[in-house]
Amino acid sequence: MTSSDAYISIRNVDKYFGTFQAIDDISMDIAEGEFFSLLGASGCGKTTLLRMLAGFESCSSGEIYIDGQPTSDIPPHRREVNMVFQSYAIFPHLNVADNIAYGLRKQKLPRAKRQEMIDEMLDLIALPGYGKRRANELSGGQRQRIALARALILRPKVLLLDEPLGALDKQLREQMQLELRALQRQVGITFVFVTHDQEEAMTLSDRIAVMAGGRVLQLDTPLGLYENPKSRDIANFIGNMNFFRGVVRRDGSREGAIDVEGLGVIPVPLEQLTRPDGAPVQVALRPEKFTITPDEPETAPRVAGKVRDSAYLGERSHFYIEIPDKEEPVAVSSPNLTRNDRKLAEARTGKPIWLSFSPESIVILDA
Ligand code: ATP
Repeated sequence: MTSSDAYISIRNVDKYFGTFQAIDDISMDIAEGEFFSLLGASGCGKTTLLRMLAGFESCSSGEIYIDGQPTSDIPPHRREVNMVFQSYAIFPHLNVADNIAYGLRKQKLPRAKRQEMIDEMLDLIALPGYGKRRANELSGGQRQRIALARALILRPKVLLLDEPLGALDKQLREQMQLELRALQRQVGITFVFVTHDQEEAMTLSDRIAVMAGGRVLQLDTPLGLYENPKSRDIANFIGNMNFFRGVVRRDGSREGAIDVEGLGVIPVPLEQLTRPDGAPVQVALRPEKFTITPDEPETAPRVAGKVRDSAYLGERSHFYIEIPDKEEPVAVSSPNLTRNDRKLAEARTGKPIWLSFSPESIVILDA
């Protein structure tokens, strides 16, 4: 069964290599035109799943549907998918135009039509006029754009990208992320992108499947993953998080609350409190959800602490704040907007300080 707007539908897919299970009962749908990422640490099964979409690996059980069609019996070259790898896989002895047109060589196209398609691709990847250049005269970023153009000239319905920016240095990589996102919007093709870099996945994706041990831990938008991680693992993987032990308090009134280690009793709307009175929970709070002030603020919840460590990072400052009744210091990330903020960034160890936050910003997780 596939849902109606799914372009790719992965249903109960398992993959075994011998007795080792690389993919463990994955089901998910990817919409047409979506920029979809598979995110996870090395060995979690991202590449295996991508190779199964391409048809380079078969499913041990389950089925992958593309555009409503089961794909088990469709060999790679007959799937309307194309793949871009981390290693550029372009031919150094060919010029740029011949590299881009490589996939067209079996099609008997009139010379003018072929040239038109190449020029269109060179425009798309912002390298107009580069057709005659030799591929080995190009920079890493340019080569990766050629690899993209070579994949796109065949007009696949789906482009599979396996860490395509992995070999680039940080600055070029960030620039290419923006270009890749713009290019995907422009061509409107469904992209399935593999990365182990959470920031890259957040920058690029409409939705992200976070994987570990061959399973999907959570599938959500970047915002959903960041604001509502379903587990401590996800919360830690996507950005930084502070964790506190808590106990649910429901006294029969309309408001519920959680008694949180070091932070006191935090009111929580009952609809967010699915657990019974006395249930242990973990409360998670992002470092930037705290406001830090030298004087006691009027808003609640608030807690007095002491600076253990601080670092000025220009746009923001990072602090570790010790608070009573909690062993681990609280990590705080605070924007440097005013002169007072900047003064705080130079706070010495031991300086008394106040932390406050909005009750809405807490995430409640299983203990
Ligand atoms: P990386 O980011 O390091 O590429 P990944 O998340 O893409 O990691 P996969 O390459 O999908 O991980 O591999 C998942 C697991 O399956 C790994 O433990 C790997 O060793 C195993 N594996 C992959 N391909 C094979 C194979 N052909 N034979 C045996 N085991 C394999």
